[in-house]
Amino acid sequence: MSKVRNCSFCGCEISKHNKGVEGIDAVICHQCLDLYAEIMQIEDRDFYSLDFIKKVELKEITPKLIFDELSKQVIGQTEAKRILSVALYQHYKRIINPKCSFDKSNILMIGPTGTGKTLLAKTMAEILNVPLAICDATVYTQAGYVGEDVENILLKLLQNADFDIDQAQYGIVFLDEFDKLARKSDNPSITRDVSGEGVQNALLKIIEGSVVNVPPQGGRKHPYQECIKFDTSNVLFICAGAFDGLKFNKRKHVGFNSVTDNSLFELTKALQNYCIIPELLGRLPVIARLNSLTVNELEQILTVPKKALIKQYINVFKEDEVALEFTPDAINQIATCAHNEGLGARALKKILEDMMLDYMFEVPSNKDVRHIKICKSDVLQSVNSKKISSA
Ligand code: ADP
Repeated sequence: MSKVRNCSFCGCEISKHNKGVEGIDAVICHQCLDLYAEIMQIEDRDFYSLDFIKKVELKEITPKLIFDELSKQVIGQTEAKRILSVALYQHYKRIINPKCSFDKSNILMIGPTGTGKTLLAKTMAEILNVPLAICDATVYTQAGYVGEDVENILLKLLQNADFDIDQAQYGIVFLDEFDKLARKSDNPSITRDVSGEGVQNALLKIIEGSVVNVPPQGGRKHPYQECIKFDTSNVLFICAGAFDGLKFNKRKHVGFNSVTDNSLFELTKALQNYCIIPELLGRLPVIARLNSLTVNELEQILTVPKKALIKQYINVFKEDEVALEFTPDAINQIATCAHNEGLGARALKKILEDMMLDYMFEVPSNKDVRHIKICKSDVLQSVNSKKISSA
């Protein structure tokens, strides 16, 4: 008769159906082994032996280096880039030292449409090699109403990190149209403001830093669903919006670029009047303001960054062995027209697409064309014809 053995840890009986591993003086059942593996996995996370962090460390990041990297992609917005460089540097320190004593510095980005808010966030994520989730604040509603739960923001981050929870927990969330949460519903028949203050309250928890249950399939949470535990303590949140009509006393403090303590106080007051709840504002201590782009900056956007629009068009035509050229006057005219549209750099793409469409269509099938020169008159002609056709 074989000897009955019990697990030395939990005391359960080792049997054919509950196998164990025998040592010299002890035996451990498979349940205890599973438990041990689970504990080891959790402890592993405390060592932060994550590949992506090693990659980051190699770069020897400083705020100045971050600023230079941002400047390669983002034209102008000098003060905002300085503020963001410091904030991102703090985030980096948090990644390499999770016990970092510095409080999390979530960011509020204020600036007109098409001035580089999203581009800044994308570039920030690229510099640190962390996942980024770009979300539209207007699709979320407070729990219990039609629309998405705010937890889905974290799901997006998780998806963009290929479900690597460790990476996701150090990612960046860019919450666009944040200013729209301030608005009360225009529909007077809706008595509760489900998409405004309710969402702001729901966001409080995740922005501040807490362990949130994220439904892996997205959609609404339900009680019997298995959820992923997501710790948001080290996620960097960037809330962005145009904040049209934000009433802020600019006269006393020339330009927003020199935000003094006093002007910061004024700004906080103005944002509260805009219906952003003070608790949420308190969790967004870093405020970066972006300016409208000048004609000169728009010209640079067209030509300077690695992926500048003009460079992209030149490359597309080069593939068909056609040399595309823009005269300086033409570039200035595109920038001027875009400036007049008031959509920031977004208008550049629209103007170029309209103007280049005929060439894109015709040239590949016409082998006689080897050189195209775009002049100021071509730009004006295209812009004016569009005006007529859309009138
Ligand atoms: P928004 O401020 O509305 O988030 P985006 O960052 O999405 O604007 O910019 C829209 C487009 O214009 C993008 O293609 C982006 O590359 C370009 N763009 C906007 N601002 C800048 C800038 N300051 N420097 C370089 N490109 C810019």
